[in-house]
Amino acid sequence: MPSFYLETFGCQMNEHDSEQVAGLLAAQGYRRVATPQEADLVLYNTCSVREKAERKAFSRLSEWRRGRADGKVIGVLGCMAQRRGEEILGREPQVRFVCGPASYRRLPEFLARLEAGERRVAGLEAADGETFETPLIQRDSPFRAYVTIVEGCDKSCAYCVVPSARGRERSRASEAILAEARQLAAEGYTEVQLLGQNVNCYRDPAAPGCDFVALLGRVAETPGLRQVRFTTSHPRDFTPGIVAAIDAHPTLANHIHLPVQSGSTRVLERMQRLYTREEYLERIAWIRAARRQIAISTDVIVGFPGETEADFEQTLRLLEEVRFDSMFSFKYSPRPGTAALALDGQVPEQERGRRLVLLQGLQREIQTRRHAALVGTVHEALVEGFNPATGQWIGRTSQNRVLNFTSPGGRADNLLGRYVEARVTRAGPNSLAGERVGNLL
Ligand code: SAM
Ligand code: SF4
Repeated sequence: MPSFYLETFGCQMNEHDSEQVAGLLAAQGYRRVATPQEADLVLYNTCSVREKAERKAFSRLSEWRRGRADGKVIGVLGCMAQRRGEEILGREPQVRFVCGPASYRRLPEFLARLEAGERRVAGLEAADGETFETPLIQRDSPFRAYVTIVEGCDKSCAYCVVPSARGRERSRASEAILAEARQLAAEGYTEVQLLGQNVNCYRDPAAPGCDFVALLGRVAETPGLRQVRFTTSHPRDFTPGIVAAIDAHPTLANHIHLPVQSGSTRVLERMQRLYTREEYLERIAWIRAARRQIAISTDVIVGFPGETEADFEQTLRLLEEVRFDSMFSFKYSPRPGTAALALDGQVPEQERGRRLVLLQGLQREIQTRRHAALVGTVHEALVEGFNPATGQWIGRTSQNRVLNFTSPGGRADNLLGRYVEARVTRAGPNSLAGERVGNLL
């Protein structure tokens, strides 16, 4: 039986693509192994969003140069394969195939061609009107499942390579999504996470009346599911209906990821984000007005071309005003083929680094204060793992906070994949610690 090793870089979308690729390979008789050394087929599912991610992937590929691949088939998947496939084949002779996200359905054919003796194979067709439907998904988690609802992206944020790597926005048919959700519930999954670069733009191609809010409601009502999450929401397309849906459906998690990118309207305009600071804050006000306490997380880019000290100050002030529950933050990374490359006012690397440190320091303070206020409160959490070093179970609350907790029977309590209630006894900036209370839910 041939074996494969698959390493994934980047976002949840890539993680889910890897689950699909692993399913396809298993159906072809491949067995997954834990190290590249044991594998006949070594695959890297790559990310192009920032330069650092691409550099890391190239460094992995360089490990197989000069005959070290020794009969192994080395392949590159994902956004970097899509964007730089020809170049990779040109400069990395050890790579036998490259395959972008739009070509995964053809993987069995590519493998067959390699087995038949073809030296190199490329699947680099542009993303077309179809979405990728496969029942062959080898999921990483036995209780949480990703479900793609929208592929690609039709926005054109000036810094972003996603539209060029993943193509035009395509929604999956709601019936296919709902059938998958029902199937997952039947298999024992209790949490579903709906994925798309911009889930708010969802539009059922088969039933034009079904928009994102309608879809959310229908998925949330799937018998057997206990928690439904969705990511990413784009502020431009975010509506009060989404907040109303969360209020109406207890299975929808108390969490919205709403990337702001910058607190300065001037910078947002240069980024082509299609909303102002005030419009973003209006959406925050809708979320804060909900009956449920909905946690809000965000993404921020510092040092976008033309970002002045005053613009950056506005981002800091926005953080203080919104008091996000968590934040992913990045130094602007210039990407080939993006509109931002032509902008003036490139911010020096060192200055980008300085701003990132300041931003992260402020957010850390905000999280520390927010978390401290939670000491003594009780939360429901889905148990994701056990940490033998601390003797704590690792849980995640509906608000997407990590809650590490002790349980009377320790590891023997066998809580993986269960829902528990735990009381917070201590709080740090990035996680909560506590103890299990009451019975299993
Ligand atoms: N579609 C989502 C959205 O619009 O928010 C996220 C897409 S992207 C994979 C995830 C995050 O990476 C973005 O929200 C942004 O903060 C960051 N990002 C994208 N391009 C970047 C770049 N060139 N430099 C630094 N960060 C970038
Ligand atoms: Fe990139 Fe903007 Fe599309 Fe998000 S919405 S994937 S940041 S172009």
